[in-house]
Amino acid sequence: MKSDVRVLVVDDSRPVREFIAQALASREGFVILEASDGAEGLEMALTDSPDLILCDLEMPHLNGFQVVDALRAQQADIPIILITSYGSETIAVELFRKGVKDYLIKPFAAEEMHAAIERALTEVRLRQEKEALTQHLAAANQELRSRVQEMDTLYRVGKSVTSMLSRDQLLERILDAVFHVIGAEEAALMLADKESGRLRTEVHRQRVPGEVQHLARRSAEELAAEAAHKGDATATGAMLSVPLKVGDRVIGALGVGNRVSTRPFSGHDRQLLLALADYAAIAIENARLYEKVRQADRAKSEFVSFVAHELRTPLTSIRGYADLLAKGTVGPLAPPQEEFIRTILRNVERMQVLISDLRDVCRMETGQLHLEMKPVRLAESLENALQATRGQIEARSQRLTVEVPESLPLVYADPARLAQILTNLLSNAHKYTPEGGHIRVRAWLQNGYVHCNVSDTGIGISPEDQARLFTKFFRSEDPAVRETAGTGLGLCIVKNLVELQGGEIKVKSQLGKGTIFAFTVPVAVEGEQGGDLGLP
Ligand code: ADP
Repeated sequence: MKSDVRVLVVDDSRPVREFIAQALASREGFVILEASDGAEGLEMALTDSPDLILCDLEMPHLNGFQVVDALRAQQADIPIILITSYGSETIAVELFRKGVKDYLIKPFAAEEMHAAIERALTEVRLRQEKEALTQHLAAANQELRSRVQEMDTLYRVGKSVTSMLSRDQLLERILDAVFHVIGAEEAALMLADKESGRLRTEVHRQRVPGEVQHLARRSAEELAAEAAHKGDATATGAMLSVPLKVGDRVIGALGVGNRVSTRPFSGHDRQLLLALADYAAIAIENARLYEKVRQADRAKSEFVSFVAHELRTPLTSIRGYADLLAKGTVGPLAPPQEEFIRTILRNVERMQVLISDLRDVCRMETGQLHLEMKPVRLAESLENALQATRGQIEARSQRLTVEVPESLPLVYADPARLAQILTNLLSNAHKYTPEGGHIRVRAWLQNGYVHCNVSDTGIGISPEDQARLFTKFFRSEDPAVRETAGTGLGLCIVKNLVELQGGEIKVKSQLGKGTIFAFTVPVAVEGEQGGDLGLP
């Protein structure tokens, strides 16, 4: 509905005031206020805030200009039409300079006055509309900014929730997120039982102390059950429930309540909770799948471990008999027979390495790999490793240099495992270096660690391969690698062992030039006892 236009008429002449009042009263929508001099007019203008002022120029005390100046000084932005007895260009310029909308020269006709008022009001209306639009835009902008902020919060909450895989931790984190995003007084998460489909409250927290009001006709559980049943949000003022859905499947419900203050939830809260429920459902499903994968992984590890164990006995037996044959214990062998036996022994050895590597990997994955930690000499483990590899290195005419100073302190490690690390690295250096290449082992003391480098002048490793080097079963596609026997388990085990001993391993390599594997072992602290170190 359009409200009346309030016009303040300031004139010391009663007849003029009456003339204006009558002229305005003949039209609808005007309310007239009257002042008989400039001072009174100014006061009324400031206290009554009229929509328009018709003000005489010549008045005792305060004249029209002074009224205009005083109003501008007070920042009162009311449109003014001045009434003057004489017209001249000079006065018109002065009036407009002061921001007066229009002027009327006495005597003026009612029509003339109406036209001036209409012009002034149209201008004011347009300005007000522009201001309202600007305000609207600013409000919309503010609204948009807070929505963007909400989306950003939701996104970050969603990310942190979906990256969490332990179920209990996850459910607690989802409630934290609900409180953070919705600002509810209490929240609960229910999950559906796989068999019966019944909802069971998994976590419930009330963070605002106080008596909860039982004003709803339906309980929180009923509300959640309904949300889960119809697959959409349900609300009764101060309680709100949304389903947790994975695709079309409902896996539970998320409920919030303001039962202490009874503040109702808005449509916007409902949208936010629905969005959060999407993240939560995915995260819960992920956690469930992750647990399943872990179980399957454990079952696989146990199976591999069992098979590896069962294969050990027959392999030892095959190796024993092949050894006897090779030594001629049961009679001399013809040259082709000797060759065959050697092939059998080589392959049995490969199988034994494979089985032993598989068992190590399984133990690492199930946390059953135990190290016999004690102060040891690195040189001793290196000697054992060299015994196992020197023959192969020499057979390929590769030059071997060992630079391990006698003065090196004892390291804290499992000597057999340290030898295994070195054997693996030396064996790789040998396998992936052509005939006549150079293999070098160096060790030195630095910052409480013994640093050991095993380097070669072999085929090298590309940067892409280096990124995957220590992962299980990784072998380069390089034909030079593929023509060499291997399982791709060695480096994965080496890295695990180095880290279990408290060190780290790095690789530096250039294709066609060679590779350096650099690992560290902590120096044994004086008085350090031997001990058993298992995986956590
Ligand atoms: P395996 O030697 O049985 O294949 P590893 O886990 O010991 O398994 O090594 C994984 C892969 O890393 C190798 O297949 C090879 O591609 C690459 N690699 C390891 N050591 C070297 C080396 N010294 N020079 C070049 N490539 C290497």
